[in-house]
Amino acid sequence: MVGSPALIWAFPPGGHPTLESQGYASGTCAVYAHWSATDAEIGPVLVRGAGPCAACVSGSAAARGRGGHPALRSWVAAWVALQCEALLRTGASELIGASWRWRLSRPGLDLVRWRALPGCGGKDCQP
Ligand SMILES: [Zn+2]
Repeated sequence: MVGSPALIWAFPPGGHPTLESQGYASGTCAVYAHWSATDAEIGPVLVRGAGPCAACVSGSAAARGRGGHPALRSWVAAWVALQCEALLRTGASELIGASWRWRLSRPGLDLVRWRALPGCGGKDCQP
């Protein structure tokens, strides 16, 4: 994990707290990218010192059902590839502290904001 240019967490925030915490502490950028049979989400991007920490983003409201819709899997794959390419090339991402969600039941892009929890006190955790 350490030394990788970016981590892609293929599960919702909070899905593997120990792993996510170690990734955040390593200083490696991480991008959440996951999907289910009903919805998909890209982000948030975690960058130490530039947004909320792994503990603060745990508890995604995204569906955690089994299986995955093939169109949502393709949507996630394309967007995460573009986000990683932009993040590694520019060092910036509009998904730091935010994510995009797509629901089959209500098509369209939803922007979700993630903020540091009050009193987090985590090293390098930013609101
Ligand atoms: Zn935090």
